[in-house]
Amino acid sequence: MEKYDVVIVGAGPAGLHCADKLAGNGMKILILEKKEVIGEKVCAGGLTRKDQEMLLLPDALIEQKMYVTMLRTSLFRSFSRYEKPVLYTIDRRKLGQWMAGEVQKKGIEIRTGTKVVKIDDDKVYTDTGSEIVWRFLIGADGVTSVVRRYLNLPVEKRIFTFQYRIPWDGEPRFEIHMNARFFHSWYGWVFPHNHYLVVGSGGDARYVSPAKMKERFHKWLEKQGFDISKATYESYPISYDYRGWDFNPVFLIGEAAGLASGLTGEGIYQALVSGEAAATRILNGRVPVPEMERVLRYNRIQNNFLKVLIKSGPFRNAIFNFILFLLKINNRLKNRVTEGFS
Ligand SMILES: Cc1cc2nc3c(=O)[nH]c(=O)nc-3n(C[C@H](O)[C@H](O)[C@H](O)COP(=O)(O)OP(=O)(O)OC[C@H]3O[C@@H](n4cnc5c(N)ncnc54)[C@H](O)[C@@H]3O)c2cc1C
Repeated sequence: MEKYDVVIVGAGPAGLHCADKLAGNGMKILILEKKEVIGEKVCAGGLTRKDQEMLLLPDALIEQKMYVTMLRTSLFRSFSRYEKPVLYTIDRRKLGQWMAGEVQKKGIEIRTGTKVVKIDDDKVYTDTGSEIVWRFLIGADGVTSVVRRYLNLPVEKRIFTFQYRIPWDGEPRFEIHMNARFFHSWYGWVFPHNHYLVVGSGGDARYVSPAKMKERFHKWLEKQGFDISKATYESYPISYDYRGWDFNPVFLIGEAAGLASGLTGEGIYQALVSGEAAATRILNGRVPVPEMERVLRYNRIQNNFLKVLIKSGPFRNAIFNFILFLLKINNRLKNRVTEGFS
């Protein structure tokens, strides 16, 4: 029977980053990934400055670096220019391949096309018939996590998302649209990539039905003049149902732990930090992990603001307009908010 010190389920950013941080410490580590190809994931492909500070991606992997943002509400439109990039865009497949290459260089084994179908107290069972003994088990298997199910933790807070990849060879556009008429408490995004824009939105289906969300989104696309006749449609849920991450010797990281932001849907940063946090706890025991505390605080603030928006009903647009008005007239506040998000 195969035996490993650490079995990581899922080769997304969380699992790969965790493996990277565990490498070189004499542990036998195995990553199991159900897909044949690492990195394929429905995503807008937006990275913030803090993601890039952790990943240090080579320039060749970055599709666009955005220094200009456009925020729009029902009443205002605000363009801002920054000295440092506020958004980097990447192709998720290329990001996954690059991260996998980095951990393989460090001698870590990745088994693709291998889905974990069952877990018990010291083994995982795969759809390829393997039974693998673990000492530490890491659930890095995203929103449908089998490791989370093994821990008996449900997922109730999910964002239903949908986006189009629209062919585009014009000026790169990075836009955030906050308008309750179209997006309820959420927002519409436009992220620039090489030769296409990713234009999407979503929301929590407990408050607006997916059918209604999509209908409003299409009205908005039409109003904005986006031509979707040659676009590719994609949809996937995001979990923001956080219920803990350290269940030593089992850890949940990234979206398996529900660590995405309910407000923005951002999840790569949280995946990287939690991956590193799990590695720290495995290597050093129950030490404090301040970066993880910061991520939990960051998510809490955003999720609380989302609650306010959900409860504010007809005043939602007034809140969006008030915030944008403040940002337009107060440069210091605008820079602080931008720093917070980037
Ligand atoms: C439409 C959309 C747009 C988004 N845009 C952004 C964005 O611009 N910026 C951002 O930061 N975040 C964005 N996100 C969120 C982001 O994609 C996720 O939060 C992030 O990928 C989470 O990383 P992860 O490693 O935890 O999980 P994932 O990236 O989901 O990786 C999990 C991996 O586990 C594998 N797996 C699952 N089950 C098993 C199993 N049983 N056995 C073996 N392997 C398994 C999967 O195949 C997958 O490779 C977006 C999400 C969506 C849906």
